[in-house]
Amino acid sequence: MKKHEELIKKLKYHRKNFWESSTKKEQRVAFKFADKYKEFLDQCKTVRETTDFIEKELEERDFSNIEKTKKSKRVFKIGRGKNIAFAVIGKKPMSEGVNIIAAHIDAPRVDLKQLPLFEDNETKMGLMRTHYYGGIKKYQWMSTPLAIHGVFVKESGEIINVSIGEDDKDPIFIMPDLLPHLAKNEQYAHKIGDAIKASQMKVIFNTIPFLDKDEKVKEAVKLNALIMLNEKFGIVEEDFLRAELELVPAGKARDAGIDKSMIAAYGQDDRICAYTGMQALLDCDLPETTAIVYLVDKEEVGSEGNTGANSNFLIDFIGDLLKFNKEHYNSFSLRKTLINSQMLSADVAAAINPNYPNVHEKTNAVHFGFGVGLIKYTGSRGKSSANDANAEFVAKMTNIFNEDKVNWQMGTLGKVDEGGGGTIAKFLAETGAEVVDCGPGLLGMHSLYELCSKADLYSTYRAYKAFFVKG
Ligand code: MN
Ligand code: MN
Repeated sequence: MKKHEELIKKLKYHRKNFWESSTKKEQRVAFKFADKYKEFLDQCKTVRETTDFIEKELEERDFSNIEKTKKSKRVFKIGRGKNIAFAVIGKKPMSEGVNIIAAHIDAPRVDLKQLPLFEDNETKMGLMRTHYYGGIKKYQWMSTPLAIHGVFVKESGEIINVSIGEDDKDPIFIMPDLLPHLAKNEQYAHKIGDAIKASQMKVIFNTIPFLDKDEKVKEAVKLNALIMLNEKFGIVEEDFLRAELELVPAGKARDAGIDKSMIAAYGQDDRICAYTGMQALLDCDLPETTAIVYLVDKEEVGSEGNTGANSNFLIDFIGDLLKFNKEHYNSFSLRKTLINSQMLSADVAAAINPNYPNVHEKTNAVHFGFGVGLIKYTGSRGKSSANDANAEFVAKMTNIFNEDKVNWQMGTLGKVDEGGGGTIAKFLAETGAEVVDCGPGLLGMHSLYELCSKADLYSTYRAYKAFFVKG
């Protein structure tokens, strides 16, 4: 090796591409891991479905509901069917601190309004009015196959699960876009963000009217829709007022690229972190430090509500754990536990998009296929609203990742002043614990088909597991 080559090797930083630095065997494991992940995505299109899926998975792996068990090292707690925390109790007392991976399981979507169904007089169509949830680009949702997922809750409290559009035999639903021939004034004259109005995002529900041989029926198409809904779900129109129904992209997660190195699917922000966090914990036998995964709702709308990261759910769960584990429990020991704890705010990052390279500052951006991203800070306009992780904690995490030969890289969200955004890190940090953002980069985040790299998916799992085992 020449002198300058030696110096370069010794002094310069290089992030490592997973496909270059891993063995064929590791790559096979990464591909296998991705297959299971796709099945998870197919069954988890909503917050409730994700919570239910994880509850079943946990029960199969010997976890018990903390409210229903007396003795177990593996427990979970569910909040309102929409958030879930689960733990493997470690050897050390919890008051010395716990290790937490926190991710969100909500994703941008288009909800049905509370009284959605109406008949358009002119066109004689049954339509549903909608209200979008989270940061969507409205045009992406037009003229694309959508499925309806959600629940009706009857006055009796009975829950009726709805999923139409995922089975090949199911119908799908469309919010029809405008043809380009007539889009000159309505769409092209506007900026892209204003070209489609929320009120134009109506979904066509049905078109066949209810026919009465003898008499003309008023709003016969809407009536026919209600008849079909009554036959299928036993509901009446008033039940919509007690429902949570969501339009999401219909169809399954798919491999992407000729080499199948990527996955295209809806909702990977942030179910990719929920899944990898869950797998990391399931594969933890008996850690030194208590390991917790916390999955929350409402991140995409500001983490509010009693199922969002801004709620007390996590603190209550840790309190429950202290009591359950027969450790001294009062507000002092709870505070001590939180302050001594370490958290990964597990959320996705923006990988460099080759179609839009100018929004990234490439040296400090997450590169697709180069492993899990550590994001020291997020925020916008001069790091506003950011949890800026402490260098000491970043050093600890990178040391653990390097020890376990995890492909990792440091990243930021885009160029300075290009835009910005946040994660739940700042809410987690209010507990006093050490917190850093850590997750894989996606391409086309918040689009209907977000892309992840199987390399980053697998590296994220390995990073989370290393954190639980060695953190
Ligand atoms: Mn996210
Ligand atoms: Mn998001």
